[in-house]
Amino acid sequence: MLEHLILISLYLIGISIVFIPLEMSFKPKESNLFRREWITDICFYFGQVLLWNYVTVYLLNSFFSEIEFDWLSEIQYKLKEQPIYLRIIPVILLSDIFIYWGHRLQHKIEFLWQFHKVHHTAETVDFIAAFREHPLDNIYTRGLETLPAILLGFDLNLIVGFLTFRGLWALFIHSNVDLRLGFLEILLGSPHLHHWHHELHLKGKCNYANLSPIMDILFGTYYNPSEKPLRFGIIDEIDRSYLGQILEPIITAKYWKKIKTFTSKINSQRFSG
Ligand SMILES: [Zn+2]
Ligand SMILES: [Zn+2]
Repeated sequence: MLEHLILISLYLIGISIVFIPLEMSFKPKESNLFRREWITDICFYFGQVLLWNYVTVYLLNSFFSEIEFDWLSEIQYKLKEQPIYLRIIPVILLSDIFIYWGHRLQHKIEFLWQFHKVHHTAETVDFIAAFREHPLDNIYTRGLETLPAILLGFDLNLIVGFLTFRGLWALFIHSNVDLRLGFLEILLGSPHLHHWHHELHLKGKCNYANLSPIMDILFGTYYNPSEKPLRFGIIDEIDRSYLGQILEPIITAKYWKKIKTFTSKINSQRFSG
């Protein structure tokens, strides 16, 4: 346990060594390293790496081991004969399609939004805020990300490598930098594009992609104005504490209707009596 705690603290120090200088070098005027709620985001980090990642891996493993992929064996066999760069392209493409539509649904379907909105409560978007995710939202996203690699028969090491790369890219697109990638912003996801996804008044109606914005361009949700977004977060009321943000979506999604029915029954009995 202690060894594990040291390792994840070292990982946090490692990514800080990369991203703090990056954020300081391309610092937007109004940015501040120790901004409001950074401790909440650190709680999300430790919650994720100490507990929720294990739950996610266990659940995804149990889920995928139950499903037969024999009908794909011929494609998997043919792909295995290809060089690694040719095998990785369909995985990245499929994974981007899954992530794009999965993310759009997180904003469209009320049930999914209850969990995804936790990620959007960040009022400052930086690399630490990337860890602000409800565990159930995390399971959903990691599942969609992993599915193509599993369908195409990738081995576990490659899947872990792929997820690590996507995770680091997620830190990059959240980082609080005033950095534009020029024409590359039609090929690669960037902090500027993802920050617009977090903009307060747009309510996440654009830039759903992570690695590449090509899906956004294809499906008409690409938004790339020259100015920077100024305000982030959501208009919905939500508890601001770490525990509150973990519990509130579960209570809202699963028990809220029951609680409402129960309290209205009590009220009607009170008035009729
Ligand atoms: Zn985000
Ligand atoms: Zn979103």
